[in-house]
Amino acid sequence: MRILVVEDEPALRSALEDLVRGEGHDVESVADADSATEAGCSDRFDLILLDVMLPGGSGIDVCRSIRAARPDLFIVMLTARGSEDNKVKGLGAGADDYVTKPFGARELLARIASAERRLTSAAGDAEELEIDGCRLDLGRCVARRDDDERPLTAREAAILRLLHRHRKRGVTRSELLEQVWRAPGDLPTRTVDMTIANLRSKIEQDPSSPRIVVTVKGIGYAWGEP
Ligand code: CA
Repeated sequence: MRILVVEDEPALRSALEDLVRGEGHDVESVADADSATEAGCSDRFDLILLDVMLPGGSGIDVCRSIRAARPDLFIVMLTARGSEDNKVKGLGAGADDYVTKPFGARELLARIASAERRLTSAAGDAEELEIDGCRLDLGRCVARRDDDERPLTAREAAILRLLHRHRKRGVTRSELLEQVWRAPGDLPTRTVDMTIANLRSKIEQDPSSPRIVVTVKGIGYAWGEP
């Protein structure tokens, strides 16, 4: 996965970078709230480790801004011990998970591995699909149409897998939230709609008239070809 580390304490930041890189992930890091918002809102990451106390602002506000722009990004908050309040605020601001400082390497890696499992395939799912002139390589997270290759995020790939797995019946927004986000229950369903809109802009010939991820009125979404 591509991981963004947001931590202002230099020793901890470099320890986090080394730890995550050691597991084979690509890592970038930033140390303040503005850089975190800018990097987090870009399309370059699958997961962000986000400290709460940052120079220039609160990690909670950063989380809220990033969630609005990138509904598919997996956000893990790094909160201080005993700060129940920050956990609640973090989850309310759209974080997917949190770890409490000080945390051990194994605990953090377990959370990242759990995020990766949520974002990647269940055994037996198709990894390469072709539909409506678009080739989807879900293992590598790329969509190709003619010679145009576009990167997909891990969450977008997870959505496509789920839609394909249930291609005979379609998938509701709540199912998507539950299975792709594992949402704590209060994430708005428009999170799903915004992510689908982004995904369509990458894979559909004409995103305003989708033929791969089609809308099923009153239900949710379905894979284009039954
Ligand atoms: Ca800090």
